[in-house]
Amino acid sequence: MLDDFIHESRVAYFSMEIALRNEIPTYAGGLGVLAGDTMRSAADLALPLVAVSLVSRAGYFRQEIDAQGRQVEHPVSWDPADFARPLDAKIAVPIEGRAVWIGAWLYVLEGHMGGRQPVLLLDTDLDENRREDREITHYLYGGDETYRLKQEIVLGVGGVRLLQALGFKIRQYHMNEGHAALLGLQLLRRHARTPEFVRPGESLYDVPRVRELCSFTTHTPVEAGHDRFAYELVQRVLGNAVDVEAMKRLTNAAEAQRSRLAIDEGFVEFATIRQLAGEDSLNMTRLALNLSEYVNGVAKRHAEVSKKMFPGYQVHAVTNGVHPFTWTAESFRKLYDRYLPSWCHEPELLTRADCCIPDAAVWEAHVQAKQVLIEKVRTLTGIALHPKIPILGFARRMTAYKRPDLLFSDLERLKVIARNRSFQVVLAGKAHPRDEGGKRLIEQLHAQARALEGIVPVVYLPDYDMDIAKVLVAGVDIWLNTPLRPFEASGTSGMKAAFNGVPSLSVLDGWWVEGCIEGVTGWAIGNAAGADDGDARALYDKLEQVVLPLYYGYSGDPGGWVKVMKGAISKNASYFNSHRMMRRYATEAYIR
Ligand SMILES: *Cc1c(COP(=O)(O)O)cnc(C)c1O
Repeated sequence: MLDDFIHESRVAYFSMEIALRNEIPTYAGGLGVLAGDTMRSAADLALPLVAVSLVSRAGYFRQEIDAQGRQVEHPVSWDPADFARPLDAKIAVPIEGRAVWIGAWLYVLEGHMGGRQPVLLLDTDLDENRREDREITHYLYGGDETYRLKQEIVLGVGGVRLLQALGFKIRQYHMNEGHAALLGLQLLRRHARTPEFVRPGESLYDVPRVRELCSFTTHTPVEAGHDRFAYELVQRVLGNAVDVEAMKRLTNAAEAQRSRLAIDEGFVEFATIRQLAGEDSLNMTRLALNLSEYVNGVAKRHAEVSKKMFPGYQVHAVTNGVHPFTWTAESFRKLYDRYLPSWCHEPELLTRADCCIPDAAVWEAHVQAKQVLIEKVRTLTGIALHPKIPILGFARRMTAYKRPDLLFSDLERLKVIARNRSFQVVLAGKAHPRDEGGKRLIEQLHAQARALEGIVPVVYLPDYDMDIAKVLVAGVDIWLNTPLRPFEASGTSGMKAAFNGVPSLSVLDGWWVEGCIEGVTGWAIGNAAGADDGDARALYDKLEQVVLPLYYGYSGDPGGWVKVMKGAISKNASYFNSHRMMRRYATEAYIR
């Protein structure tokens, strides 16, 4: 099985989380879904990648909402043997002075067009390891910062070594966010100069060589969001630094050979780590920036923000995209297959949707997708939504900057709008178990939903995951997004909606700065530079005066709504997809 993948050189794509399929809980949100879509597009486009992630046997968590509207977290264990096969190779990394053994599972991602891509899920739950080390790869985003650092050593250092042990030929390393940045240190060791040839004043480490091998995609638009570790902690956990001066004194070839082995087993000296990762603490983003020739943000706006945050670095912009087949509902797949065949391989063809697909056919596909959502809501909550009344959808990680409560910030105003032209709301999302603010928001949303009873039906679907996301982004009429600027690096759920002809109503941040053509692909809330405190009013005004009148046909433009649906498909789905994203990574980052 592995033999199918090791004969040609590949790009190693490192990600802490990856959404492979709904039954495998190795993802928490947008970052993992992006990693999954990356591999799905690679499969369709026959780009040779190999993904490296952690097996996360205990998953993220399953969310239940109790009678008070509070999030209750349940573990979700999965057995990798159900979906993947264990590989023979094992390697060890030193952690806290012990050898921690790492094995891997091979998951073969099979694309809907027959393409296949290998995914390695690293696993420390091996008999060789003591108990606490066996748990390093159990909990996605669990534990304290020591636990997180150990996970990042396993991912970055362990991942690079295991790829080599398995016989993979790697032409490029792509870090999806800074979690994997320690891979750069492992490469520095691997490509260290032979000590006897190091000239005075020259480093043992060949940073330019490693930079040629690495690409880095940053996802975090604020300083506080970046992973950092105190050097005391790093020293304690990584330990075992290489004494570079002693290396340089080595003269004969045998000793040099041994020293290279030592370099490969030990760690890069701390003076070098400090130079690359920051004086005060080990900043994973800075480390990744310094060891990658190609760096990008995930939307144009985000690349600008990143340049300001890290002056002196060239940051390209590769706007995210979503996987066409995965995020398109059955009814729309059929529609596109009929009118724009091979759209799945070349989603650019969807630019023609506005002229080539009859309005009635688009509407009928939407009615079907909406019915699927209404059924799902009924099964999960017992609530019957009305098929003729527009549904606003909002679902994503529940955390303060996403402002899920913005729509409910003035309940009286909202009631006035709804009495005039009714609408319904469907919400979903998990809060990280340690995000108290996020959990309070979930509780608050439930209270607000109760306050609106009888006037605006508001449903909260528990345990948001890929399957619920698929039904939601296709079945609602309007996709709402109200982040605090500039915290939404990209956002991708609105792109998923576009594939299903669902227009976005969103604050101008992340991808929407590029995706919004007012009244054509959806609508903006406020303006790009807008003050955040005016957003609630801007949202109510737009909903009341533009969006709902157009939906109900009171805008003097009876076909207007379907026109916007087609605008979302032809202008946005055709562009904001992961095929375009991967073609750009291939031509700009992987081949250079
Ligand atoms: C797409 C997706 C996300 C990301 O949503 P954003 O609006 O980009 O934050 C999160 N969770 C799941 C399950 C998704 O499918």
